[in-house]
Amino acid sequence: MSEPVVAIVVPCYNEEEVLPETIRRLQALRGELVEEKMISPKSALLFVDDGSHDDTWKIIYKASLCHPEVKGLKLARNAGHQNALLAGLFAAKTHADCLISIDADLQDDLSAIREFVQKFREGYDIVCGVRRRRDTDTWFKRHTAQGFYRLMKMFGVDLVYNHADYRLMSRRAVEALEQFGEVNLFLRGIVPLLGFRSAVVYYDRKERLAGKTKYPLKKMIAFALDGVTSFSVTPIRFISLIGFLSFVVSLIFGAYFLFLKWAGHTETGWTSLITSIWLLGGMQLIALGLIGEYVGKIYKETKRRPRYIVDLDLWNWPLPQRLSPSASSEEAEAEKRLRP
Ligand code: UDP
Ligand code: MG
Repeated sequence: MSEPVVAIVVPCYNEEEVLPETIRRLQALRGELVEEKMISPKSALLFVDDGSHDDTWKIIYKASLCHPEVKGLKLARNAGHQNALLAGLFAAKTHADCLISIDADLQDDLSAIREFVQKFREGYDIVCGVRRRRDTDTWFKRHTAQGFYRLMKMFGVDLVYNHADYRLMSRRAVEALEQFGEVNLFLRGIVPLLGFRSAVVYYDRKERLAGKTKYPLKKMIAFALDGVTSFSVTPIRFISLIGFLSFVVSLIFGAYFLFLKWAGHTETGWTSLITSIWLLGGMQLIALGLIGEYVGKIYKETKRRPRYIVDLDLWNWPLPQRLSPSASSEEAEAEKRLRP
């Protein structure tokens, strides 16, 4: 087998602090692998700017001008990590035999990429990077993440434990992924569903090289909720179970209250009455909320909105050469906004 063409896809959201170093290190690694004849010299790095507000795009654009192996993709607005990753994978897939996704902060050990490619050459379509330990995470992140994996397992979702979005996918795996039409794409859950031959590579995760996490608690909760409701109807079944149990309990209590009434102690019912009103009210609200979650999902899916909108794609579309001497000042202004 000749050396595979590899595309490394990096989603970036406000990563100006770490990005220059990331580009440098990935370039160095790419150079080494090309020299070792592990990968083809056509291999490239694709940086996806997920609607950043800082100089992220400027850095990507400049690097792409100086180095032919650096490519850029700019989303029109922030579409979120998963969507930015997808945008990159879909834009890069026609240029590569296999695609590797990695975060911009270099928390994931780059040396695992060599093993990824090795596995690909051995015939695996999907190679998942799995963290050996979680000791560089904060106590909070570690426990919430582990709780999440456990919860997903309980709900019957097949996840690779401690695997985030550091993975290699063959071109045909990405093409298969493209067939999943849902808008709420939870990659970690869908990749195992593809069913291709897959392997695991263990690595150590470090601390963020620079900059702050782009996953605050709010995004983490939204992500976890998305994961559960995209894959599992167990919460709805759980509601039905609670409903059934409370029905049985109320039957028993009903019989008991009837007995009290018959024995002449009717004044004593207040406490149980008020408690059950609160209890049932609470349960009904929880149930409604959960059902609402699924209804909301159906609502989103039926609209079939695009997951992301590409602004500039330096790999597949050459930069528009619109700026002519006759262009109006308004056009020139717009053009200036596009070009850093
Ligand atoms: N990211 C993105 N869009 C977002 C949030 C994050 O593209 O809306 C990128 C971010 O630039 C990074 C990766 O997703 O490359 C993972 O984010 P981060 O490292 O902040 O997450 P953490 O490692 O803290 O879970
Ligand atoms: Mg990170």
